[in-house]
Amino acid sequence: MSAQHASCINGQTKIAAVFGWPVAHSLSPAMHNAAFGALNLDWVYAPFAVSPEQLPAAVAAIRALGLRGVNATVPHKEALVALMDDLTPEARAIGAVNTILVEEGRLLGHNTDAVGFERTLQRAGFDARGKHALVLGAGGAARAVVYALLRSRAQVVLLNRSPRRAVELLSRLGASAATGALTASEVGKWAGHVQLVVNATSLGMWPQVEGTPWPQEIPFPPDVLLCDLVYNPRRTPLVGQALQAGARCIDGLWMLVYQGAEAFRLWTGQQPDAELMFRAADDQLGGRDAPFSDRR
Ligand code: NDP
Repeated sequence: MSAQHASCINGQTKIAAVFGWPVAHSLSPAMHNAAFGALNLDWVYAPFAVSPEQLPAAVAAIRALGLRGVNATVPHKEALVALMDDLTPEARAIGAVNTILVEEGRLLGHNTDAVGFERTLQRAGFDARGKHALVLGAGGAARAVVYALLRSRAQVVLLNRSPRRAVELLSRLGASAATGALTASEVGKWAGHVQLVVNATSLGMWPQVEGTPWPQEIPFPPDVLLCDLVYNPRRTPLVGQALQAGARCIDGLWMLVYQGAEAFRLWTGQQPDAELMFRAADDQLGGRDAPFSDRR
């Protein structure tokens, strides 16, 4: 937030927030405050460290304090489902809320991660319709990704360290797709048949920065798009493997920006500048990995 923006806070200022635990490293305040400032909106966005035990009290405080919008991050997205007055079809299907819209005192739970992922693919010029996608991981982020891919009529293969979780994910979405364990033989079986690879595991994400879900013995396919949801750091070992193979890559910072931009639009009715939000988030990360991000 610019000093000028902060110094303008007054009794009329509308307050948005992110609830997380921990929340200190969230990039959302930088993204949203930059966008509010650029549009000259009298809004401010603040991070709140909310423990899981305090989540119901924090949700009650949204009304008590008159917060205008709230984002949720780890570990609250699933728990918020039961605390909303209503859910969008996306949030209900995915089983997670990452954005709360306050409408006449009622809390409406949205999930903007799916839209964020779809816009990330669009940015990379990738139309998922009819394509084959290999999704690695079956946690909360994978649910939004698989939901979006199925909505785009893509064919999905879902591999996870715990294969049972992959089966559960599909059954929650009421969908059928190939699933399996995240092993070299399974990855090798599918690698040559897909046009998109998505890393939805936390491997490569700080502090597991050395980790990669792609087995070293399986060559990364050169003619695919890799979408690595990890954004800290942006250049993960998996991105390195893919670039070395000649594949196209887009990193998770764009999904973070686009899910945030959609939340911003829902709260304010205005479309923020996604490029500006990206730069604000990237600056907070240190801008270390910028050179590869827009490689198409
Ligand atoms: P979850 O904790 O819900 O899921 C973690 C996933 O990673 C599970 O599939 C888990 O497998 C797998 N995993 C963890 N450690 C290992 C390991 N050592 N070997 C193999 N698999 C492993 O996390 P989320 O789904 O919320 O997040 C996943 C990643 O996506 C994170 O890096 C997160 O930062 C990123 N993310 C990015 C977003 C963006 O906007 N760019 C949005 C949301 C998330 P198992 O089921 O076997 O435990």
